[in-house]
Amino acid sequence: MNSHYRVVVIGGGVVGTSVLYHLAKLGWTDVALIERSVLTAGSSWHAAGGFHALNADPNIAALQAYTIDLLSEIERESGQSVGMHMTGGLTLAGTEARWEWLQSAYRVFQTMGIEDVRLVGPEEAGALCPVMSTEGILGGLWADREGYIDTTGTVWAYAGAAKKHGATVIEHNRVLDLNQTAEGWQVVTEKGTISAEHVVNAGGLWAKQVGRMAGLELPVSPLEHHYLLTETIPEVAALERELPLVVDLEGFTYMRQDQKGMLLGIYEIEHKHWMMDGAPWDYGVELLQEDVDRISHELELGFNRFPCLQTAGVKTWVNGAFTFSPDGNPLVGPVRGKPGYWVACGVMAGFLQGGGVGKSLAEWMIHGEPEADVYGMDIARYGPFAANRDYIKQTTGQFYTRRFVMTYPNEQLPAGRPLKMAPAHDAMTEAGCRWGVSWGLEVPLYFAPKDFVETPTLKRSNAHDLVAAECAVVREKVGLLDISGFSRFEVTGPNAEAWLDRVMASRLPKPGRARLAPMLSSQGKLKGDLTVFNWGDGRWWIMGSYYLREWHRRWFADCGGDGVHIEDLSDRIVGFSLAGPKARQVLERVTHQDVSDAALPFMGCGAFDVGLIRASIGRLSVAGELGYEIHCEASEHIGLRRLLLEAGADLGIREYGFNALLSLRLEKSFGIWSAEFTQGYTPRMTGMDRWIDWSKPDFAGRDAALAERDGPAPAKVQVTLAIDALDADASGYEPVWHAGRNIGFITSGGYGHTVGQSLAMALIDPAHAAPGTELSVHVVGVERPARVIAASPYDPSGKAMRQ
Ligand SMILES: Cc1cc2nc3c(=O)[nH]c(=O)nc-3n(C[C@H](O)[C@H](O)[C@H](O)COP(=O)(O)OP(=O)(O)OC[C@H]3O[C@@H](n4cnc5c(N)ncnc54)[C@H](O)[C@@H]3O)c2cc1C
Repeated sequence: MNSHYRVVVIGGGVVGTSVLYHLAKLGWTDVALIERSVLTAGSSWHAAGGFHALNADPNIAALQAYTIDLLSEIERESGQSVGMHMTGGLTLAGTEARWEWLQSAYRVFQTMGIEDVRLVGPEEAGALCPVMSTEGILGGLWADREGYIDTTGTVWAYAGAAKKHGATVIEHNRVLDLNQTAEGWQVVTEKGTISAEHVVNAGGLWAKQVGRMAGLELPVSPLEHHYLLTETIPEVAALERELPLVVDLEGFTYMRQDQKGMLLGIYEIEHKHWMMDGAPWDYGVELLQEDVDRISHELELGFNRFPCLQTAGVKTWVNGAFTFSPDGNPLVGPVRGKPGYWVACGVMAGFLQGGGVGKSLAEWMIHGEPEADVYGMDIARYGPFAANRDYIKQTTGQFYTRRFVMTYPNEQLPAGRPLKMAPAHDAMTEAGCRWGVSWGLEVPLYFAPKDFVETPTLKRSNAHDLVAAECAVVREKVGLLDISGFSRFEVTGPNAEAWLDRVMASRLPKPGRARLAPMLSSQGKLKGDLTVFNWGDGRWWIMGSYYLREWHRRWFADCGGDGVHIEDLSDRIVGFSLAGPKARQVLERVTHQDVSDAALPFMGCGAFDVGLIRASIGRLSVAGELGYEIHCEASEHIGLRRLLLEAGADLGIREYGFNALLSLRLEKSFGIWSAEFTQGYTPRMTGMDRWIDWSKPDFAGRDAALAERDGPAPAKVQVTLAIDALDADASGYEPVWHAGRNIGFITSGGYGHTVGQSLAMALIDPAHAAPGTELSVHVVGVERPARVIAASPYDPSGKAMRQ
């Protein structure tokens, strides 16, 4: 063991060894992995070793596909067998909705270019898995590249391949503590102290404690998980080829062959947390006591699905623990305020995702950012609120229990809620508000009569008409929207302007003006679709998506800068937006100041008296109407709402929610983050380049953005589509076809209530981007005609916003 390494990876499970391998492979060879016991001594040794293709987040599905391809590579590089059984796999649908969902998922695989996946009917499913009863099965998704591996062999293969690239593995040496230094981290271990520029927390079952060593309370918790292994089963032993991996979603079980018997794993409906503060340090390579009573219902379903299990002898019960984050995806990346501390934990399916996690983290550490859009597993998708123990318990428990339960896009789940509420929350609830959640904050979705219950569905829901009515109010009269769910950062100090000018790719607004401002990474990819306000008194605001607060704050911190102070006002400053042709009339009634177009023009901003409130107003509107965003202190939120509703009562004012806003913005072809804009996309492919000030001598990402501007046309460009939809709208990642060829994919979709048309935005091959081009799109698995239309089907000249 040396006294210094560039990187110390803490933890020798599948995740730590994968990080080590990728770092060394990418050229950082002065790296060491330190393991408390022996490699695999956490969750990894007793995993079922299954890997499969499906994930609700296509970016994570792509990283899973990468992991599957990697397994044979590490076997070759290390000379260590991973015990590969590429049996193929079947995911079953036992309800109509699930079958629709699988058909949609199949189309998303097509978008991703994964072609070894196909839909099968019940009969074929039965033929593919002859020991399975197909009773109640409507269909399934077959994937060639699914199966299982030997878990210990795989960890050794990662470690062996890493060592061949020059990395070091040190076993039987617990990391006792971490101390931050000017150069990085002091790693205190049982065998001595090491200095390192970077440390990686790949502590798995102990990730919580390794987080606390750096003063972090990570949102992870272990939960128990059962599977059983049978003795030899004659029906299985008699087969000529190995059984496929079968995931029976409605049965809460997964199955694979194990020697001449079977392995049946259970996602327990009645979940059980284990050691929420992390495993004990003396926890060895041991199993937990099985609890057959707790899983008897799921076992019964499993034994009915695979009848030969009913007479099979159980060789071994495995009850083990592994860690979960609140949404079940890994926690990866750097942590704000802890330079050189990286996390790679909360990895629920390490053998399926470990390769992608290792690749992304190594790229991040070496190149400054990962190649793919990994927001779905970025630690920064959570904020300080997620450190709360009950929040962790409720959300991880909910995820575990629902692991195989169908979640509809319009479904609201209860765990960890309500957590944060804007002051007017209760009054809005009284008015019929139905809530969604963004980064722990309750945000309004739509308003409904008290007895209205929205039906979970993949198609248009029974809230469709309610949302239509809200859209109509905004287009024809005036709507009021609670805009507490946006982030607001105040930038001040002698170098505030210079800092903003360097961080934003756009020109900065003049005093009393606001401007749309793209923010780019050093590699020229999108980092934000923000709005910058210049209040004219030395204060600047950056407004963006509420749920990206920690992500943006980490980036702002990375951008450094003396003489600049950035304060996150998002929970202190809240507000309401007025939008619609009568918005000015309402505002005029509550302010003595001039709010005419001349005094407060489109994209203008300033301080105004609104009733008794000293408000900050920006004249802009995501809905594409005459609009005012009125910001106030949280203590004034209730009063502002009451004042505006009273002032607009005879003008037909009504409250609306974000469901309507999403429809209204689609009619304007206004993109949003996580759909049209992501960190995987560039300015030119998304049209963000029109906001870039190319005359600026310097801004973050300038060289890469210039290279893109002057280079060949991007492979995909953003377009708006009209879809001849039936009873469902596109949502995202559905493939777009031209004459049977996949030419791109949907970034977001919905119904345009004003234009009376199902709409979508898409990234497609520029050769087919001309308005009028006839295309087709799969919507909830059904192919529908679509055509490219000119951007902004509602009010293309933007007159309404500027009146
Ligand atoms: C019953 C069961 C079935 C499963 N089935 C599957 C499956 O089919 N497919 C799949 O992909 N996944 C499966 N999993 C999940 C899988 O096991 C985990 O996702 C994976 O093992 C996580 O790996 P890890 O490296 O993050 O953590 P761990 O395997 O827990 O490794 C962490 C390591 O860090 C070490 N460590 C911690 N703290 C320190 C310290 N302070 N100093 C030094 N070393 C330290 C520990 O000793 C340990 O070896 C299953 C898990 C269980 C329990």
